[in-house]
Amino acid sequence: MPELPEVETVRRSLLDFVPGRKIVDVVVGDPYVLRGQPVDQFQASLRDQSFQDLERHGKLLFFPFDAQTLIVHLGMTGQLTLRRPDRADTRFIRHHHTGLQRTLQHPPDQHTHISLMLDDGSALHYRDVRKFGRVFTIPQTSRSEIIARFRLGIDPLTADFSPDYLAGGLRNRKAPIKAALLDQSFLAGLGNIYADEALFQARIRPGRACYRVRGRSLEALAQAIVSVLHQGLQAGGTTLRDFVDGSGQSGYNQEGLQAYGRYGQPCLACGDELRRSTVAGRTTSWCARCQK
Ligand SMILES: [Zn+2]
Repeated sequence: MPELPEVETVRRSLLDFVPGRKIVDVVVGDPYVLRGQPVDQFQASLRDQSFQDLERHGKLLFFPFDAQTLIVHLGMTGQLTLRRPDRADTRFIRHHHTGLQRTLQHPPDQHTHISLMLDDGSALHYRDVRKFGRVFTIPQTSRSEIIARFRLGIDPLTADFSPDYLAGGLRNRKAPIKAALLDQSFLAGLGNIYADEALFQARIRPGRACYRVRGRSLEALAQAIVSVLHQGLQAGGTTLRDFVDGSGQSGYNQEGLQAYGRYGQPCLACGDELRRSTVAGRTTSWCARCQK
């Protein structure tokens, strides 16, 4: 599932091309991803509108127009890519850990559910193999209204995030710390990958009760959350550049995941074999020696 760094990478990849462009046609291949919004209403709300800002909070992308906002949540396998007439199509590359497919641009296929045709001949395609994602418009346009509507907590890459915020949210919880990190109404943006990475970096056992994460480990966790997200962002950027260069898979190896998906392999800090457990219903990789 795309987490904050992947979603932010998508946003940045569109930033140079989409703002200012006018939508001249809206093609709906499969209305399922509209999640109940009538097709004609969706089309009418976007036709002849010009993109202004491309925004993100946690894993949610939202693009405000004058009277409504286009919401894009990539779900498990959603892809939002721009196909430009002056650029060659690129093949899909599958991530060896996450299974995510990425490409810079591609022609529409049977998994392309929404296409926004733009006034310069380019097209913004929403493609989603498993269709857990959603794309629709809502009448709200302010950032705070949108965050409230989707009940999103603080985005860890904003100034609102701090060790104090983290402490306030953990103090009265008995659930495993990993469950709190995955709770989007508390922290918006972390998923299984970056939760495992942050806990490994902060040397905290994923099953430790929230209220027992205090003091120096809490400070370490706040720092680790921001640090692993920044590392992921840097890797995402690298990957996109590699796609342009056509060098394929190599970009992913630079992500340098230390815990996620590495169970059965040696811990990069102590050499012990990383364990596999289920915490908060999710497969979890961790080191019993380093993480307490
Ligand atoms: Zn270790």
